[in-house]
Amino acid sequence: MDSRPTKLDYYADMRSLVSESTVVSFLKGGDDGRSALILESTIFHPQGGGQPADTGFITVGDGEAKFAVEDVRSRDGIVYHYGHVENLVGDGVVEFETGKAVHLHVDESRRKLNSRLHSAGHLLDMCMKNVGLGLEPGKGYHFPDGPFVEYKGVIPPSEISNKQKELETEANALISKGGKVSIAVLPYDEALEQCGGFLPDYIPKESTPRIVKLGSNPGCPCGGTHVHNLSEIISVKVSQIRTKKGVTKVSYTVG
Ligand SMILES: [Zn+2]
Repeated sequence: MDSRPTKLDYYADMRSLVSESTVVSFLKGGDDGRSALILESTIFHPQGGGQPADTGFITVGDGEAKFAVEDVRSRDGIVYHYGHVENLVGDGVVEFETGKAVHLHVDESRRKLNSRLHSAGHLLDMCMKNVGLGLEPGKGYHFPDGPFVEYKGVIPPSEISNKQKELETEANALISKGGKVSIAVLPYDEALEQCGGFLPDYIPKESTPRIVKLGSNPGCPCGGTHVHNLSEIISVKVSQIRTKKGVTKVSYTVG
């Protein structure tokens, strides 16, 4: 099997929900019928970086063969579209053989929600600083079933309630104001500069990190999909702040 990394079309273009590509290989499923499709390039966001996978479908020709994409994962740079072959007498092996041209369609409502949740997480990182909580960002979980962002360090218990309100007010003020969300794949030194002189250790010095920036604020490395303007988040609710074992967890939802 060809083991070149899959080209990630959503890296440069987060708005497109359709694209064209070519089949690298079709891995026919077992008894559960779940097969995997590997393509030269994809606009499907695989699960990772705290963001769920896109869903949607992939077709051949005028839709004579359709592959429903139920999950997307990336391993060693290769993106696996997992799902089922639909509307076929055959099993998809011939229809999705290597070299076939395919059309990709990402489910819009799911992608939009995931992008709003992901951008809201980054916005909260920014708002934490704005309300005087300069804690170092840790894990982010931007799934619809209970999204949260974590920080190293704690907030004194007596301040939590006030900070929760301040954070929510600040986030919604910035959403109302609006601001362009920009993405760029940059040489390391330039990325470092765009991120205010700090990049996490897991970013290799010889790499070209993808940097997301909210308005003119310092950026941060991110592989996910985002809204194009902060106003598209609509609103944020900070539902809870908890501190435990030196970690502060901020739970949120989008309106
Ligand atoms: Zn991110």
